[in-house]
Amino acid sequence: MSKPKVAFFDFACCEGCQLCAIDLEPEQLLDLVSVVDIVEFREAMSETGDQLDIAFVEGSITRDSDIDRLKKIRERAKLVVALGACSMIAGINALKNFQTKAEYTQAVYPEDPNKYETTTAKAIGEIIQVDAFIPGCPIDTGEFLRVTKNLVLGKTPDIPTYPVCVECKRNENVCVYEKGIQCLGPVIRAGCNARCPSNGGYCFGCRGLIPEPNINSQQDIMQKYGLTYEKMLEKFKLFLQRNQEIFGDDQ
Ligand code: SF4
Ligand code: SF4
Ligand code: SF4
Repeated sequence: MSKPKVAFFDFACCEGCQLCAIDLEPEQLLDLVSVVDIVEFREAMSETGDQLDIAFVEGSITRDSDIDRLKKIRERAKLVVALGACSMIAGINALKNFQTKAEYTQAVYPEDPNKYETTTAKAIGEIIQVDAFIPGCPIDTGEFLRVTKNLVLGKTPDIPTYPVCVECKRNENVCVYEKGIQCLGPVIRAGCNARCPSNGGYCFGCRGLIPEPNINSQQDIMQKYGLTYEKMLEKFKLFLQRNQEIFGDDQ
């Protein structure tokens, strides 16, 4: 029996998530190719495929000319998976959405602001139907492998729906709020093993919000520690600019 055909595509991004996908340990790579046939992957091969079982799409949509290409990928694939924060929630590309086009093109290309086509950054799910996602900036390699196997077996991808705080407490970390530092862990999707607070940092939201996040409760926590709502919004801006629950239609 032939294996499911899988391909990788990228839009505006650093390609770090694709690199994570191919940076598997040798036994993990063997595990992957034993269940799927990779037919298109610009980072690793020159061949291209036609009809696909799974298309992994990395990156945000930041040009009108990207839309047609994305729709054609959708037409070719039975399942489309948003690979990483740029694709899933527009990621750091959407930081520019809080500025005017004139401001950000002038800042990046002062010599010739109109040289490159660019517009509001969007998640791919704002343009096409997305069947699954792999969160993170970058993605977790083990989670990529696990979700791919889930999809091949026709199962719902096994992605945590509880917050980062659960993993953080399991790791017995002292909460950074006790040190006067804001952290978005209470409303952000776990699965990274609380990577940042466990290594001297704080959660800045790269895996996106949990389902039905209690933003008011997050606000209450900030206020309890003398931190303002405005400061919380600044933290949310890095990864959650496209979230209308937080920012309305501002971006
Ligand atoms: S989500 Fe992060 S690591 Fe992945 S492509 Fe975007 S910027 Fe790069
Ligand atoms: S440091 Fe962050 S993730 Fe850890 S318990 Fe505190 S708020 Fe939650
Ligand atoms: S702790 Fe937060 S910012 Fe850090 S990897 Fe996990 S979800 Fe991303």
